[in-house]
Amino acid sequence: MPFQAFGLHPLLQRAVKELGYTEPTPVQAGAIPPALLGRDILATAQTGTGKTAAFVLPILHRLMAQPKKGIRVVVISPTRELAAQIEDACRGFAKHTDLTSTLIVGGRPIGPQERALKSAPDVVVATPGRLLDLMKQNANLFFGTTVLVLDEADSMLDMGFLPDVKRIVAKLTGRKQTLLFSATMPPTIAKLAGELLRKPETIQIGRRTATAVGITQAAYPVPANLKMALLRHLLRHTEMPSILVFTRTKHAAKKLAKQVAIDGFTVAELHSNRSPAQRTSAMAGFKRGDCQVMVATNIAARGLDVAHVTHVISTDVPDVPEDYVHRIGRTGRAGASGDAFILVSPDEEDSLARIERQVGQRLPRITLPDFDYKQAGPAMPTMTAAPRGPRPARASQARGGSSRGNKPPRRR
Ligand code: AMP
Repeated sequence: MPFQAFGLHPLLQRAVKELGYTEPTPVQAGAIPPALLGRDILATAQTGTGKTAAFVLPILHRLMAQPKKGIRVVVISPTRELAAQIEDACRGFAKHTDLTSTLIVGGRPIGPQERALKSAPDVVVATPGRLLDLMKQNANLFFGTTVLVLDEADSMLDMGFLPDVKRIVAKLTGRKQTLLFSATMPPTIAKLAGELLRKPETIQIGRRTATAVGITQAAYPVPANLKMALLRHLLRHTEMPSILVFTRTKHAAKKLAKQVAIDGFTVAELHSNRSPAQRTSAMAGFKRGDCQVMVATNIAARGLDVAHVTHVISTDVPDVPEDYVHRIGRTGRAGASGDAFILVSPDEEDSLARIERQVGQRLPRITLPDFDYKQAGPAMPTMTAAPRGPRPARASQARGGSSRGNKPPRRR
């Protein structure tokens, strides 16, 4: 089905065409027609599936048919980065129209944001905390808001934003259409959906916690204190044009970024010790391809949309399997292929087993023939801030890690 079949306003179609979209993605094919009719939507879709356009396009189309009357749409998203990305998408799709949008996020001066709200943009894209602060003084600005989008609802739950989200919803008294997107559907989100949505069109893309197709995953067993050395080895010996490296802590991210820069790579850092301006410029630099490596904490795991990420490397095993799924979803975006590697120390094998159960596949274990696993590393782990409990004696590094029969990563 071509995009034209939706009957979107010609000015929106023009923008869609300029962006190079020809065929809708499955979530777009499922959500756009009912959303154009004003129906509520409940969509379970991973990031990278094209869900932003799935809600932005029908919303903009409907706005064009109505008279302007202040803030008509509120989109809530869990992170500043994701909110910025959505607002960017709104601007991109609305570029040939007179529809306007604004971004309301924490970590930036509140004054200009308040002024932007008072200028009556059609669409407000926001993170919950800052939006709620501004709504307290300016509740009247939202009397004409009829459309609410909750994006990445499960992340908002994980990040403790649900009470704020509920307070915001309570203030949107003119709400007529609600669209809820979530990568997974934990019971709390299903309950919230039951409370907020009226006869929603339900769209489910892929398995609940399935990883995106096109991503090749592999685990690299390694003693905790050699993770840095193994990562540097991988960077030096594997062709990886654009790499997103995840660390558990901002301290580890900083340390790693420094080391990788010493090794001669161009590096950007994304973690909460960076100022909003630094985070924005890191994102922009990585997106432009100025930096080959981005080192990030989980803050970047959700929402970050960089079309060209070829490799995601996790230097720790997340305790929550969904965090892993989100991390690796940063590669293989929109049908592209990518590799996702995870460095696993013996005491993390149990967490990895949980992830494997959730993604329904055992990751191949890879041991590099040309890496010295017996070398003396630092006495303490260098990539995980605190050792997580005593290391079980049963888990030798080689356990499950023999590479016999497993190929080393593609050397490009
Ligand atoms: P999202 O899941 O909304 O973050 O989108 C992931 C990526 O897919 C973004 O870079 C979009 O620009 C891209 N994308 C979304 N829809 C389409 C489409 N129909 N055709 C091609 N690319 C798309």
